[in-house]
Amino acid sequence: MTGLLTIVGLGPGDPRYLTPAASEALASATDIVGYGPYVDRVRDRPGLRRHASDNRVELDRARFALGLAADGARVAVVSGGDPGVFAMAAAVFEAVESGEPAWRGLDIRVEPGITAMLAAAARVGAPLGGDFCAMSLSDNLKPWEVVEARLRAALAADFVVALYNPISSARPWQLGAAFGIVSEIRRPDTPIILARAVGRPDERIRILPLAEVDSSMADMSTIVVIGASTTRLIERTAAGEPWVYTPRFYGVRP
Ligand code: SAH
Repeated sequence: MTGLLTIVGLGPGDPRYLTPAASEALASATDIVGYGPYVDRVRDRPGLRRHASDNRVELDRARFALGLAADGARVAVVSGGDPGVFAMAAAVFEAVESGEPAWRGLDIRVEPGITAMLAAAARVGAPLGGDFCAMSLSDNLKPWEVVEARLRAALAADFVVALYNPISSARPWQLGAAFGIVSEIRRPDTPIILARAVGRPDERIRILPLAEVDSSMADMSTIVVIGASTTRLIERTAAGEPWVYTPRFYGVRP
């Protein structure tokens, strides 16, 4: 029997955001491997083996999953959002690259999911309507100098910038430093979206001008989206937060 390893994106939280293809991959798996809270999101059924692990050991988890698949299991490695965005898919391919030669013969697939940036953007309007980029603010796997250089370059190029992994107890100062850099380059009224736990019961979304944000407004479950110079608000006549959008044209509409 040949095994199968599928790296599955679970989306931001709301089960309705799971794609039918991802659901099929979960339904046909013999083993689910992933960070505990993501494994918990997979519906239980008789015979399904669950292997929950802690979040810090991605490469070990990837090797473990590859080992199971090499033994003939149908393994689903689960990630929140999209598995290719700062998540398990790259860890699996890193493990393949440096691991057992036999792993290169495995059937390995990636099932995409709705990434946090897209779910957050959809809640508030169309902030990613122009050119944008995404960065992980984490300096666990790359030096802070690289994070800072990329952030400055993205701001200088006037991209909308989505910041994943903005803050954690182990990385308490980086988001404050990032807001400091943003304030050097962007206007104080630049819209900033702080979207926490999108698609989960404790979802909270705030839209604030740059001058009013600080790093205490975000946590590990928050994605921060920094507007470009063209990103603006449309006040609504109905109650509620304004819409945020970035036009597709730049400057004057051609
Ligand atoms: N693969 C995931 C991202 C993993 S990095 C994805 O595609 O969404 C983890 C970071 O993603 C968090 O620190 C946070 O910035 C963001 N994130 C993940 N799920 C989120 C959610 N439901 N709401 C807001 N941000 C989320």
